[in-house]
Amino acid sequence: MFDKNTPDLADPALLVPGHLNLYSCPMESGTERTPLRDFSLEELVAYFTSLGEKPFRARQVFQWMWQKGATEFFQMTNISRSLIQRLETIATLDRTEVVFISQSPASETRKLLLRLQDGKTVETVLIPEESRVTVCLSSQVGCGLDCDFCATGKMGLLRNLTAGEITDQLRQVMAISSRPVTNIVFMGMGEPFHNYSAVLKAADMMHDELAYGTGARRITISTSGLVPQIKQFAEENRRYKLAVSLNATVDEQRNVLMPINKKWNISALMDACKYYTEKTHNMLTLEYVLMAGINDTLQDARRLVQIARPVFCKVNVIPYNDINGTYRRPADEKIEAFLQELSKGNFPLTVRWSRGGDIDAACGQLATQTKKMQPGFNPIET
Ligand code: SAH
Ligand code: SF4
Repeated sequence: MFDKNTPDLADPALLVPGHLNLYSCPMESGTERTPLRDFSLEELVAYFTSLGEKPFRARQVFQWMWQKGATEFFQMTNISRSLIQRLETIATLDRTEVVFISQSPASETRKLLLRLQDGKTVETVLIPEESRVTVCLSSQVGCGLDCDFCATGKMGLLRNLTAGEITDQLRQVMAISSRPVTNIVFMGMGEPFHNYSAVLKAADMMHDELAYGTGARRITISTSGLVPQIKQFAEENRRYKLAVSLNATVDEQRNVLMPINKKWNISALMDACKYYTEKTHNMLTLEYVLMAGINDTLQDARRLVQIARPVFCKVNVIPYNDINGTYRRPADEKIEAFLQELSKGNFPLTVRWSRGGDIDAACGQLATQTKKMQPGFNPIET
């Protein structure tokens, strides 16, 4: 935006179908300086106050960092020269670096591989559709919950992302999107509720008018079912939308698919879901990944109706996206029959025909281990 040498990432000439490694930007070093992107607006105001600066200065800097996309202090043209010089010595605008962008030949979906300050990488997906532009954000590097069907789960948990690293994914995606982002989903790498405070702080930052002003009901957090955090989320009366990945209707099966079920089984999870909807009066989404020969029988559909009906919820069926493992997507007729049976539940029902499967950008396909990289390209430590 400011640097003449920065390539225009929206330029289709820079996008090669498959993978790309064209753009890299310098990173701040300065480990002892304060990383301002990790501050909420409130924290930034407190920080500026501690420096003897007025709160409105913090608001200006916050707006520059996010809404105006500044990557250097000197770009903040309404900040005095002396304050800029001071900030340059005591603070940083540390940010993520675009390593490459994969462009889906079959859809407009684009997947960004972003490098963090410590060299680890995460993926973020931009999904333009007719009526909306959705960004799928990562909350962790990898995930510790080890769901058997999920590529991210195979990575294990490398670390949590900071609020700044989460929000910076949106800044990067905004820079390459030709249309405004309308929806944000925490359905990328990681379990958002395992990184609760950073995820909620990032959502608050993105929601802020001085950042991106994304409506609270346009931000969805998806969890695999962490009961204490679902209750906390309910008690804090957060307005962001909540989605819960159910994926199985009997404990024996959910234990295998999602080991977290051994800690909080279906009954405990559904109790927490009811607690959430009763406390907040917000509708919940139950996600159900449909896997051939695993959870796709009519009996499964009937059990799902029994589980979902007592809850103020809609059900989102996600036909499985292949990760070259043992699980498969059911045949279309099987999916149809399942949906037909499910429609008897009389709750809202949607199907997520994920975009970006051709570039491993669909639900559950995100993983930044070297196995999935281009030959000869190895951006991360393993
Ligand atoms: N950890 C959170 C959010 C990230 S996963 C969670 O589990 O909810 C986002 C969604 O993708 C979840 O509903 C998950 O069940 C689903 N998912 C994981 N792997 C998938 C795959 N291979 N195909 C389709 N959906 C998948
Ligand atoms: Fe983690 Fe969600 Fe994947 Fe399970 S489905 S391993 S919770 S990212």
